Amino acid sequence: MSDHKKLYNIREWRRASIDYRFDNPLCISCKNDGKLQPSDVVDHIIDHKGDLSLFWDKDNWQPLCRQCHSKKTAQENPEYIELKHAPTTIVCGPVGSGVDNYIQSLLKPNDIVIDFDTIYAAISGCDRYIKPKSLFVYINKIREFILTIFSQETKVRHIYIAMYVGDIAKIKAMQDRFEDSKVIILLKDEATCYRNCKNNRKMFNVPTDWLKIIKIWHTEYKKHKTPKDWLVRG
Ligand SMILES: [Zn+2]
Repeated sequence: MSDHKKLYNIREWRRASIDYRFDNPLCISCKNDGKLQPSDVVDHIIDHKGDLSLFWDKDNWQPLCRQCHSKKTAQENPEYIELKHAPTTIVCGPVGSGVDNYIQSLLKPNDIVIDFDTIYAAISGCDRYIKPKSLFVYINKIREFILTIFSQETKVRHIYIAMYVGDIAKIKAMQDRFEDSKVIILLKDEATCYRNCKNNRKMFNVPTDWLKIIKIWHTEYKKHKTPKDWLVRG
Protein backbone atom coordinates (compact mmCIF):
# COMPACT_ATOMS: atom_id res chain seq x y z
CA MET A 1 0.00 0.00 0.00
CA SER A 2 1.37 3.43 -0.92
CA ASP A 3 1.88 5.93 1.92
CA HIS A 4 -1.02 8.14 0.99
CA LYS A 5 -3.38 5.15 0.71
CA LYS A 6 -2.61 4.57 4.42
CA LEU A 7 -4.24 7.92 5.21
CA TYR A 8 -7.63 6.34 4.51
CA ASN A 9 -7.07 3.71 7.15
CA ILE A 10 -6.56 6.02 10.08
CA ARG A 11 -9.41 6.35 12.53
CA GLU A 12 -9.74 10.16 12.16
CA TRP A 13 -10.40 9.79 8.44
CA ARG A 14 -12.91 6.98 8.86
CA ARG A 15 -14.76 9.07 11.48
CA ALA A 16 -14.63 12.20 9.30
CA SER A 17 -15.81 10.24 6.26
CA ILE A 18 -18.83 8.81 8.12
CA ASP A 19 -19.76 12.25 9.50
CA TYR A 20 -19.38 13.89 6.12
CA ARG A 21 -21.53 11.29 4.37
CA PHE A 22 -24.12 11.62 7.14
CA ASP A 23 -24.36 15.33 6.30
CA ASN A 24 -24.10 14.69 2.53
CA PRO A 25 -26.05 11.49 1.96
CA LEU A 26 -26.33 11.75 -1.85
CA CYS A 27 -23.79 11.34 -4.64
CA ILE A 28 -23.28 14.85 -6.00
CA SER A 29 -22.41 13.67 -9.50
CA CYS A 30 -25.57 11.56 -9.80
CA LYS A 31 -27.60 14.40 -8.27
CA ASN A 32 -26.35 16.74 -11.00
CA ASP A 33 -27.62 14.18 -13.51
CA GLY A 34 -31.01 14.13 -11.78
CA LYS A 35 -30.51 10.73 -10.11
CA LEU A 36 -30.71 9.95 -6.43
CA GLN A 37 -27.88 7.69 -5.35
CA PRO A 38 -26.51 7.30 -1.82
CA SER A 39 -22.95 8.53 -1.29
CA ASP A 40 -20.48 5.75 -0.55
CA VAL A 41 -17.22 7.64 -0.69
CA VAL A 42 -15.78 11.00 0.32
CA ASP A 43 -13.86 12.00 -2.77
CA HIS A 44 -11.06 14.55 -2.95
CA ILE A 45 -12.02 16.92 -5.75
CA ILE A 46 -8.37 17.66 -6.41
CA ASP A 47 -6.26 14.53 -6.07
CA HIS A 48 -4.32 15.11 -2.82
CA LYS A 49 -1.42 12.83 -3.81
CA GLY A 50 -0.46 12.61 -0.14
CA ASP A 51 -0.66 16.38 0.51
CA LEU A 52 -2.14 16.55 4.03
CA SER A 53 -3.65 20.03 3.73
CA LEU A 54 -5.53 19.01 0.55
CA PHE A 55 -6.44 15.73 2.20
CA TRP A 56 -8.11 17.32 5.23
CA ASP A 57 -9.52 20.40 3.46
CA LYS A 58 -13.30 19.98 3.57
CA ASP A 59 -13.68 22.36 0.63
CA ASN A 60 -11.84 19.72 -1.37
CA TRP A 61 -14.31 16.98 -0.44
CA GLN A 62 -17.41 15.80 -2.30
CA PRO A 63 -19.79 12.90 -1.71
CA LEU A 64 -19.78 10.29 -4.51
CA CYS A 65 -21.31 6.88 -5.07
CA ARG A 66 -18.96 4.00 -5.73
CA GLN A 67 -19.58 4.03 -9.50
CA CYS A 68 -18.96 7.74 -9.96
CA HIS A 69 -15.87 7.50 -7.79
CA SER A 70 -14.44 4.65 -9.89
CA LYS A 71 -15.13 6.62 -13.05
CA LYS A 72 -13.37 9.72 -11.70
CA THR A 73 -10.40 7.70 -10.43
CA ALA A 74 -10.04 6.03 -13.83
CA GLN A 75 -10.04 9.39 -15.57
CA GLU A 76 -7.40 10.78 -13.19
CA ASN A 77 -5.13 7.74 -13.53
CA PRO A 78 -5.07 6.39 -17.08
CA GLU A 79 -3.07 3.41 -15.84
CA TYR A 80 -5.78 2.55 -13.33
CA ILE A 81 -7.90 -0.30 -14.60
CA GLU A 82 -10.80 -1.60 -12.62
CA LEU A 83 -11.29 -5.32 -12.06
CA LYS A 84 -14.41 -6.42 -13.90
CA HIS A 85 -15.91 -9.19 -15.99
CA ALA A 86 -14.38 -8.51 -19.37
CA PRO A 87 -16.76 -8.40 -22.32
CA THR A 88 -16.24 -11.65 -24.19
CA THR A 89 -16.68 -12.60 -27.82
CA ILE A 90 -16.85 -16.28 -28.69
CA VAL A 91 -15.96 -16.74 -32.34
CA CYS A 92 -16.99 -20.11 -33.81
CA GLY A 93 -16.58 -21.67 -37.18
CA PRO A 94 -15.19 -24.70 -38.98
CA VAL A 95 -11.49 -24.91 -39.86
CA GLY A 96 -10.88 -22.75 -42.90
CA SER A 97 -13.62 -20.28 -41.96
CA GLY A 98 -11.04 -17.79 -40.76
CA VAL A 99 -11.75 -17.78 -37.01
CA ASP A 100 -8.18 -16.84 -36.08
CA ASN A 101 -7.86 -14.11 -38.75
CA TYR A 102 -11.19 -12.67 -37.72
CA ILE A 103 -10.10 -12.47 -34.08
CA GLN A 104 -6.74 -10.94 -35.09
CA SER A 105 -8.59 -8.19 -36.98
CA LEU A 106 -10.49 -7.20 -33.81
CA LEU A 107 -7.64 -7.33 -31.30
CA LYS A 108 -6.68 -4.22 -29.33
CA PRO A 109 -4.09 -3.74 -26.59
CA ASN A 110 -4.98 -5.43 -23.31
CA ASP A 111 -7.21 -8.00 -25.06
CA ILE A 112 -6.61 -11.72 -24.79
CA VAL A 113 -7.30 -14.67 -27.07
CA ILE A 114 -8.07 -18.13 -25.76
CA ASP A 115 -7.50 -20.52 -28.62
CA PHE A 116 -6.99 -24.23 -28.04
CA ASP A 117 -4.76 -24.58 -31.13
CA THR A 118 -2.52 -21.70 -30.09
CA ILE A 119 -2.10 -23.14 -26.59
CA TYR A 120 -1.28 -26.50 -28.18
CA ALA A 121 1.38 -24.94 -30.39
CA ALA A 122 2.87 -22.96 -27.50
CA ILE A 123 3.20 -26.00 -25.25
CA SER A 124 4.25 -28.57 -27.84
CA GLY A 125 6.54 -26.23 -29.75
CA CYS A 126 5.07 -27.75 -32.90
CA ASP A 127 3.36 -25.97 -35.73
CA ARG A 128 -0.28 -24.97 -35.14
CA TYR A 129 -1.76 -27.87 -37.13
CA ILE A 130 0.44 -30.63 -35.74
CA LYS A 131 -1.04 -31.80 -32.48
CA PRO A 132 0.80 -34.60 -30.71
CA LYS A 133 -2.07 -36.71 -29.32
CA SER A 134 -0.24 -37.52 -26.10
CA LEU A 135 -0.53 -33.89 -25.03
CA PHE A 136 -4.25 -33.53 -25.66
CA VAL A 137 -5.39 -34.16 -22.09
CA TYR A 138 -2.86 -31.67 -20.68
CA ILE A 139 -3.69 -28.94 -23.19
CA ASN A 140 -7.34 -29.39 -22.32
CA LYS A 141 -6.57 -28.89 -18.64
CA ILE A 142 -4.45 -25.82 -19.36
CA ARG A 143 -7.19 -24.28 -21.50
CA GLU A 144 -9.74 -25.07 -18.79
CA PHE A 145 -7.52 -23.29 -16.25
CA ILE A 146 -7.13 -20.24 -18.50
CA LEU A 147 -10.90 -20.11 -19.07
CA THR A 148 -11.50 -20.26 -15.32
CA ILE A 149 -9.07 -17.43 -14.61
CA PHE A 150 -10.53 -15.11 -17.19
CA SER A 151 -14.20 -15.86 -16.49
CA GLN A 152 -13.61 -14.07 -13.19
CA GLU A 153 -13.09 -10.34 -12.71
CA THR A 154 -9.91 -9.25 -14.48
CA LYS A 155 -8.11 -6.19 -15.80
CA VAL A 156 -8.39 -7.52 -19.33
CA ARG A 157 -10.18 -5.22 -21.83
CA HIS A 158 -11.81 -7.87 -23.99
CA ILE A 159 -11.66 -11.66 -24.21
CA TYR A 160 -11.86 -13.55 -27.50
CA ILE A 161 -12.47 -17.27 -27.45
CA ALA A 162 -11.90 -19.30 -30.61
CA MET A 163 -14.09 -22.39 -30.97
CA TYR A 164 -13.99 -24.87 -33.80
CA VAL A 165 -16.99 -26.91 -32.70
CA GLY A 166 -20.37 -26.75 -34.43
CA ASP A 167 -22.31 -28.16 -31.48
CA ILE A 168 -24.60 -25.34 -30.38
CA ALA A 169 -25.00 -26.80 -26.88
CA LYS A 170 -21.23 -26.67 -26.35
CA ILE A 171 -21.05 -23.09 -27.56
CA LYS A 172 -23.96 -22.16 -25.27
CA ALA A 173 -22.19 -23.78 -22.34
CA MET A 174 -19.14 -21.62 -23.05
CA GLN A 175 -21.33 -18.52 -23.27
CA ASP A 176 -22.82 -19.37 -19.87
CA ARG A 177 -19.36 -19.34 -18.30
CA PHE A 178 -18.70 -15.73 -19.30
CA GLU A 179 -21.01 -13.17 -17.76
CA ASP A 180 -20.91 -10.58 -20.55
CA SER A 181 -20.44 -12.64 -23.69
CA LYS A 182 -21.72 -12.77 -27.23
CA VAL A 183 -21.32 -15.34 -29.97
CA ILE A 184 -20.29 -14.83 -33.58
CA ILE A 185 -20.64 -17.73 -36.03
CA LEU A 186 -18.54 -17.67 -39.18
CA LEU A 187 -20.83 -19.66 -41.40
CA LYS A 188 -18.68 -20.36 -44.46
CA ASP A 189 -19.81 -23.15 -46.77
CA GLU A 190 -17.87 -26.41 -46.94
CA ALA A 191 -16.28 -25.69 -50.32
CA THR A 192 -14.93 -22.30 -49.24
CA CYS A 193 -13.53 -23.70 -45.99
CA TYR A 194 -11.89 -26.60 -47.80
CA ARG A 195 -10.39 -24.30 -50.41
CA ASN A 196 -8.91 -22.14 -47.64
CA CYS A 197 -7.41 -25.25 -46.01
CA LYS A 198 -5.90 -26.37 -49.31
CA ASN A 199 -4.42 -22.93 -49.93
CA ASN A 200 -2.73 -23.04 -46.54
CA ARG A 201 0.45 -25.01 -47.21
CA LYS A 202 1.04 -25.71 -43.51
CA MET A 203 -2.40 -27.23 -43.16
CA PHE A 204 -2.16 -29.13 -46.38
CA ASN A 205 1.11 -30.76 -45.32
CA VAL A 206 -0.55 -32.32 -42.28
CA PRO A 207 -2.09 -35.73 -42.93
CA THR A 208 -5.54 -34.70 -41.73
CA ASP A 209 -8.83 -35.10 -43.56
CA TRP A 210 -9.81 -31.43 -43.37
CA LEU A 211 -12.89 -31.91 -45.54
CA LYS A 212 -14.23 -34.52 -43.13
CA ILE A 213 -13.66 -32.19 -40.18
CA ILE A 214 -15.42 -29.36 -42.01
CA LYS A 215 -18.36 -31.62 -42.87
CA ILE A 216 -18.69 -32.73 -39.24
CA TRP A 217 -18.84 -29.09 -38.15
CA HIS A 218 -21.66 -28.33 -40.58
CA THR A 219 -23.61 -31.49 -39.67
CA GLU A 220 -23.37 -30.65 -35.96
CA TYR A 221 -24.28 -27.02 -36.51
CA LYS A 222 -27.39 -27.83 -38.57
CA LYS A 223 -28.76 -30.15 -35.86
CA HIS A 224 -30.11 -27.27 -33.74
CA LYS A 225 -31.59 -23.85 -34.25
CA THR A 226 -29.13 -20.98 -33.83
CA PRO A 227 -30.07 -18.80 -30.82
CA LYS A 228 -31.57 -15.48 -31.93
CA ASP A 229 -28.98 -13.31 -30.23
CA TRP A 230 -26.01 -14.89 -31.98
CA LEU A 231 -24.46 -13.03 -34.87
CA VAL A 232 -24.07 -15.19 -37.98
CA ARG A 233 -21.65 -13.98 -40.64
CA GLY A 234 -21.65 -15.65 -44.01
ZN1 LIG B 1 -22.88 8.77 -8.49
